Amino acid sequence: MPENTPHIEFRDVIKRFGNNTVLDNLNFTVSRGERVTLIGPSGSGKTTILRLLMTLEELTDGYIYVGEQALQYEQKDGKRVRVVDKQRRRTTTQVGMVFQHFNLFPNMSVLENIIEAPIHVMGLPKAEAVTKAEGLLEKVGMGEKRDFNPSQLSGGQQQRVAIARALAMDPEVLLLDEVTSALDPELVGEVLGVLKDIAAETDISMLIVTHEMQFARDVSDRVMMFDQGSIVEEGKPEKIFSEPENQRTRDFLRAVL
Ligand code: ADP
Repeated sequence: MPENTPHIEFRDVIKRFGNNTVLDNLNFTVSRGERVTLIGPSGSGKTTILRLLMTLEELTDGYIYVGEQALQYEQKDGKRVRVVDKQRRRTTTQVGMVFQHFNLFPNMSVLENIIEAPIHVMGLPKAEAVTKAEGLLEKVGMGEKRDFNPSQLSGGQQQRVAIARALAMDPEVLLLDEVTSALDPELVGEVLGVLKDIAAETDISMLIVTHEMQFARDVSDRVMMFDQGSIVEEGKPEKIFSEPENQRTRDFLRAVL
């Protein structure tokens, strides 16, 4: 069960692309160990939230915190300020992300994809990184493919490697961005199965964007319904999916279920 400690906090977050205000004064927190699914129509800002957390996008205004005081970055008055709390530098939360289109390095083997960041970012000795990668590949059912090239794998297999790659960095937060949307329907189950196991076996906090509503029901502690960059309704999955109160949630669920 999630502890009641904020792990992620969005405070007064504004994100604009040009004149397009995508997130408009967004506030929410995610507790340590909590699994939160973001649902809502296309263009409502869900992926932008994940990309901001991954620092793949810059904030327009407001604050994003990850970890107790591990302030990731903040921006005020038009200036982006990266704040590094020296005392906590070594414990700064690791955020990992799995993308819709896998984003594996095409010129590297499966194993090389996984050991790259642990060696070059974490400074892990190669032998340790390999042992760890082999364990993770077993976990996602890809142990026999360690020397394959990504182009030799199905989409479902590539995505399982991408999940192993994210886990190799020991993330405390895992962001899943429509990880099954690019897969043929018969390959969706194997990826969701791996993710359900990880959710059951770890206490990694997760933010999940998905159109797989059964998966959202199975793994989420909380569902947040977005429309036009704002949370219009949130609650436990059984409540949101069975008795949604907001008309926009009802309309959205009617369209996707
Ligand atoms: P969702 O994930 O809910 O479908 P997104 O976060 O992808 O929504 O997009 C929200 C809005 O932000 C959309 O209007 C989209 O066009 C816009 N947007 C996203 N990324 C960019 C970008 N890099 N440049 C310009 N506009 C963007």
